[in-house]
Amino acid sequence: MKIETQCLHEGYSPKNGEPRVMPIVQSTTYRYDSTDDVAAVFDDPTKSLIYSRFENPTTDCVEKKIAALEGGAAAMCTSSGQAASLLAILNICEAGDSFIASSSIYGGTINLFGVTLKRMGIECIWVKEDATEEELNAAFKDNTKAVFGETLANPALTVLDIEMWAKAAHAHGVPLIVDNTFATPILCRPIEWGADIVIHSTSKYMDGHAVQVGGVIVDSGKFDWTNGKFPCMTEPDESYHGIVYTEKYSFAPYIVKARMQLMRDFGCYPAAHSSFLLNLGLETLHVRMKQYCENALAVAKYIQSTGKAEFVTYPALEGSKGHELAKKYLPLGTSGVISFSVKGGRNAAVKFMDSLKLASNEVHVADIRTCVLHPASATHRQLTDEQLVAAGIDGGLIRLSVGLENVEDIIEDLKNGFAQLA
Ligand SMILES: *Cc1c(COP(=O)(O)O)cnc(C)c1O
Repeated sequence: MKIETQCLHEGYSPKNGEPRVMPIVQSTTYRYDSTDDVAAVFDDPTKSLIYSRFENPTTDCVEKKIAALEGGAAAMCTSSGQAASLLAILNICEAGDSFIASSSIYGGTINLFGVTLKRMGIECIWVKEDATEEELNAAFKDNTKAVFGETLANPALTVLDIEMWAKAAHAHGVPLIVDNTFATPILCRPIEWGADIVIHSTSKYMDGHAVQVGGVIVDSGKFDWTNGKFPCMTEPDESYHGIVYTEKYSFAPYIVKARMQLMRDFGCYPAAHSSFLLNLGLETLHVRMKQYCENALAVAKYIQSTGKAEFVTYPALEGSKGHELAKKYLPLGTSGVISFSVKGGRNAAVKFMDSLKLASNEVHVADIRTCVLHPASATHRQLTDEQLVAAGIDGGLIRLSVGLENVEDIIEDLKNGFAQLA
């Protein structure tokens, strides 16, 4: 199936007389005929359902769909994108380990990695997203267990050279984890470029309608965990009656371990109803992504033409930062998100934004409706000036998330904003 068809048909195929639409299975638990049946479920938890803290039939359909869209072997949904980032790292790093992350990533992830994981004894080694292969290779330590980056960084919109980062990770025997939230599998499938694990905040384009927070982790099933660096995968898990993940679940050991160990213990699984809503978003993902890209390119060209922006970052736009990498990794477009800095810095940015009528001020991005955010005073407010610069953010920077309204209405609204700046 082509990806447009997968958006509609993967994950759920009703049998004769069953509901056409994936039902919401609103049950915390599942009934079995005998104690033996329950024992069998524990022996192989991938075969039947135990408890909705870590698996549910509705969510299972969505997991299968997203795994298919990304070209992965298996997936696990989480209750937020943050939970996906957290579990993706904790699944292979423990106190005393380190991992490498691109410094141009989502502000919430910068905090999680740099502050909270540090408290847990896991070190994040920051590397600039445009590091040369040599610089990247030099950042590895003996205890480095993973490499992390974002396809299209929120909000800096830097494009990750996935192939090069995957090569460096593999040369050191560790997986590349890519946060593909902004691109979605419609615009880029990182596994095809060498990524081993893909994560998403499904709260953004996948959901698309700003109705539920969620995340997902996808296992490509391709990484070789048996190179000696990952005893957590290759030695018996005493907390799960001695299962060796790479032996028993070689098709996707990473995701089975994440579910049976971490999801069991942390319990950040989405509700069935949220998964039902997420699935509605996924069904139209391909149509929406193409329209977001078309609208945003027209808006980016308009902003550039006003001469009132210091710069416009929209990698699909000729002359924008990241254009060369975007041509390679994101040939269909670079989502609906544009970042630009208005001349006049922080004050001008605030004046511009407060005069908009159609675009609303929201702590969100990738909404179906156009919205704007001032990163320096919102999502990235907790970062130091140094971290702000590293994340590619200045005082005048505006993150504009172009929606699916008629593009002429969006541009008219921005015109009013620019008029305020004289
Ligand atoms: C929003 C976002 C997150 C966090 O996701 P939540 O669903 O808000 O927890 C992680 N990564 C990226 C790239 C994001 O845009």
